Amino acid sequence: MREAELYGWGMYPRARCRVIQPETTAEVAAGVERGGIARGLGRSYGDPAMTRAGLVLDMTGMNRVVSFDPETGLLTCEAGVSLEQIINAFAPRGWFPPITPGTKYVTLGGCVANDIHGKAHRSAGCFARCVTALTVLLADGRVLRATRSEHAELFWACFGGLGLLGVILEVTLRLRRIETTYFHQRAITVRDLGELLEAFDRFADQPYSVAWIDPLATGAALGRGVLTVGDHAARDALTGRLRADPLRITPPPRLEVPFDMPGWALNEATIRVLNVVLGTMQARAGALAHYEKFLFPLDFIGQWNRGYGRRGFTQYQFVIPLEDGAARMRALLELIARSGQSPFLNVLKKFGPEDPRTQLSFPREGYTFAIDFPVRPGLPELLQRLDARVLDAGGRIYLGKDAFVAPETLAAMYPKLDEWRAIKARYDPEQRLRSCLSDRVGLTARA
Ligand SMILES: Cc1cc2nc3c(=O)[nH]c(=O)nc-3n(C[C@H](O)[C@H](O)[C@H](O)COP(=O)(O)OP(=O)(O)OC[C@H]3O[C@@H](n4cnc5c(N)ncnc54)[C@H](O)[C@@H]3O)c2cc1C
Repeated sequence: MREAELYGWGMYPRARCRVIQPETTAEVAAGVERGGIARGLGRSYGDPAMTRAGLVLDMTGMNRVVSFDPETGLLTCEAGVSLEQIINAFAPRGWFPPITPGTKYVTLGGCVANDIHGKAHRSAGCFARCVTALTVLLADGRVLRATRSEHAELFWACFGGLGLLGVILEVTLRLRRIETTYFHQRAITVRDLGELLEAFDRFADQPYSVAWIDPLATGAALGRGVLTVGDHAARDALTGRLRADPLRITPPPRLEVPFDMPGWALNEATIRVLNVVLGTMQARAGALAHYEKFLFPLDFIGQWNRGYGRRGFTQYQFVIPLEDGAARMRALLELIARSGQSPFLNVLKKFGPEDPRTQLSFPREGYTFAIDFPVRPGLPELLQRLDARVLDAGGRIYLGKDAFVAPETLAAMYPKLDEWRAIKARYDPEQRLRSCLSDRVGLTARA
């Protein structure tokens, strides 16, 4: 066991925790008995994978592949296996995870616990869609296999359940067949929000779509940016050097941010410059992109979160329904652009319908926007104002990114919260499984 100061990707908030790295089910069970909460690769932005009261179970030591069926693509792994490990092992054989977030440095357990979504939510749904079975160690030490038909309520409640129903030991998921590790892509430059939302519809036949906008543009230019759409490239689409090695996985060279940047490094002037650079890079992207560039562009720079300085940052991600979505999004973007809070990296996507069987899974049909803000005075007040507008629009925020939401706001955003709480009470009546986040937002009663 070691003591460490833990934090999420946003480096805010921080807590001193006791950490163990179990390698067997018995070690996980002993950790849960002592109030342990699971942690994957710590890529959630806030505080779901840390606890002040008990232990943190670093699940990355549980990283074995259990079985793989090359006929169906059905893969069973321990929950500490990362998407990077899966891609490195299976992409060269023509298989790929069907749903990936914006980084490959996430574990399967983390993907389930936040029911992660990618750039293809409209066609592929959330992570739950590709998972067929979970093995879960409950708070009382029992181990259950949960599927769509066996312990189904436990199965569904785990997606978005933030590790609070049990520690996931194994995940069975269906990989998708690919002919190449490349994507064909197209970049569409848009002058304003209206053009952007219209472009999402015009390119609706493209499974992957994601937009970046200039976060400081206001008025008529509000929402100007670049929409990138694409899909897995077939072998025929490759020529020359690429065709000779269509399933290449060699990761690109990584740059590292070796220290926390000073807090002043991100100010309005540097943000304007960096956004011009980002916009130009995206608008000029070629017709074919390796998956590393298409799916995980931020992974090129290791520890890029340190660029925000030691005070850290938060990523505010919300989704609002399509109905009245353009006007609501305009008002939210205006508020952000005029806030003086140095908004930076951002993505705008369009989600397909939500899965009605989950309770706390974030995506629902509508427009979703995610934006980084450095933590500084005035930010909590801005986020409260944004929360109120998101709520008023019938939307909600993503707990996988959150560090600030108030319990009553969260409850109003997630109408199935009581249903989820009832399931939690059946599987963990003593509320043994808890985290800083669950206590903060009222998913567990404060100890
Ligand atoms: C650059 C970047 C881009 C991202 N892009 C996206 C995106 O496009 N879409 C998206 O949905 N998310 C995105 N995320 C968020 C990220 O995908 C999720 O937060 C994911 O859950 C992180 O996985 P992890 O292994 O790091 O889990 P952690 O952050 O360590 O933990 C997250 C939650 O999972 C629980 N958990 C972890 N392992 C287990 C286990 N074995 N059993 C039970 N519970 C467990 C923890 O208790 C915690 O509640 C992004 C994050 C970053 C840093």
